[in-house]
Amino acid sequence: MDCIFCKIANGQVSAKKVYENKKILAFQDMNPVAPVHILFIPKEHICCINDINIGNSEIIGNIFCSIAEIARKMGLGKGYRVISNCGEDGGQTVEHLHFHLIGGKKLGWPGVD
Ligand code: 5GP
Ligand code: ZN
Repeated sequence: MDCIFCKIANGQVSAKKVYENKKILAFQDMNPVAPVHILFIPKEHICCINDINIGNSEIIGNIFCSIAEIARKMGLGKGYRVISNCGEDGGQTVEHLHFHLIGGKKLGWPGVD
């Protein structure tokens, strides 16, 4: 399978890592839309939110705990946004589950028109 985020997770493709443990990885988005834009991914290939289930839900919890911790470390005390685009209509361009942590400025409400 030719998945760019699997390649980042296994070290075949480099990325600016922010956080890593056995199950998950966080790295800088290569095309940031705000001063802070970090992607959180499971190291195992999960396509999108549709493929979250009770069997992999611990990883999802792990990701959200890490998001909260990194947001604190990044000084995002005034707030931030977490987004996961799912499928074609959701605007997902990389088919490996990821959560965008976006912040560092006052955010408008996007993409609902
Ligand atoms: P999506 O559009 O699927 O919600 O988000 C995919 C995100 O991955 C985009 O924000 C894009 O900039 C980022 N991205 C795609 N390819 C790479 C890559 O090879 N390295 C990094 N660091 N980010 C990537
Ligand atoms: Zn993958």
